[in-house]
Amino acid sequence: MIPALDLIRQYQAHKSEIAEAVFGVLESGKYINGPKVAAFEEAMAQYVGTGQAVALNSGTDALYLALRALDVGPGDEVVTTPFTFAATTETIVAAGATPVFADIDPVTFDLDPGGIEVAITSRTKAILPVHLYGLPADMPRILAIADRHGLAVIEDCAQAVGAEIDGKRVGSIGTIGCFSFFPTKNLGAFGDGGMITTGDNALAKRIRKLRAHGAASKYYHEEVGVNSRLDEIQAAILLIKLGHIEEWILRRRQLAHAYDRLLGDLCDIQVPAAPRSVRHVYHQYTVRVFRQRDAVRESLGHRGVASTVYYPTPLHLQPVHAQLGLKRGAYPEAERAAQEVLSLPIFPEMRDDELQAVAAALKDATVAT
Ligand SMILES: *Cc1c(COP(=O)(O)O)cnc(C)c1O
Repeated sequence: MIPALDLIRQYQAHKSEIAEAVFGVLESGKYINGPKVAAFEEAMAQYVGTGQAVALNSGTDALYLALRALDVGPGDEVVTTPFTFAATTETIVAAGATPVFADIDPVTFDLDPGGIEVAITSRTKAILPVHLYGLPADMPRILAIADRHGLAVIEDCAQAVGAEIDGKRVGSIGTIGCFSFFPTKNLGAFGDGGMITTGDNALAKRIRKLRAHGAASKYYHEEVGVNSRLDEIQAAILLIKLGHIEEWILRRRQLAHAYDRLLGDLCDIQVPAAPRSVRHVYHQYTVRVFRQRDAVRESLGHRGVASTVYYPTPLHLQPVHAQLGLKRGAYPEAERAAQEVLSLPIFPEMRDDELQAVAAALKDATVAT
């Protein structure tokens, strides 16, 4: 079976430097808020191109604390995409606010700026675009809308570390960037991890306070916060991995371009968009299968190729958001994408012969279906 992702290959390739980093922390006796966390925050701020980076326990916490730091709460609305992972909207609800959806662009699968303005009301506080699959959302147009309405922009960068628009890295474009270091993400820890990036020092300071039980100084608590820390061991590992992120992105892009060449002329399939002005980092290589996606996926499985559907049910149709009262048909592009998307295996350690086998199997599967 060709796996969708093989984390063990990456570990094997970097085993000794990872072991050294982990044992260094174990020997140091500093397991929380030590020098590795500070060094990783500094390195990420530099990599993303923002003044501030604050390490957190997860990407979910990054979104939640970004909203909290922007004072998004009861009575407020946040405009976002229905075609994303549940954490994007779960955190809006957790902050006490209401998610308001706008449909996606059928070519990029990202939030369609054309639908944002009609979703904005007097209660809207922020726009929350997701750089889905590693392809940046249309930030220039989203920022222009946000400026016109005086809104904050929270970038969900969980799938897109290193992605760029006109040479600017995601996480440095909106008001706050939110990253995840979940093991399967492009920059993955050996456990949970997350981060916010921002150029706004006051916001960063507030998030540092919120992540430490709302304490401005030790045992002096100004507001209700959370416990959201990145472990020192994970920070040491991520610091090593950040040193390899550019080579991994290059390899992902090389694999994606090889898929484009092999699959680009299949008429039953649409390969991912890659606008010229952006650097897509291919967290996923996601094609659209126009006919019988589920049967094609099953047939691929029989041919020894794993594939995944991100995401089978758009968020406006999930039980968790039933109280929003949204029905099928409300966001037709998100609904169509949920029926048609298929993510093929892609990871930096994937071999060329594996990629060729996947492409051949997909051709056969579409013909046979
Ligand atoms: C993974 C992911 C998150 C959540 O990150 P965790 O670190 O798992 O909490 C949020 N949004 C998107 C789009 C994601 O892919």
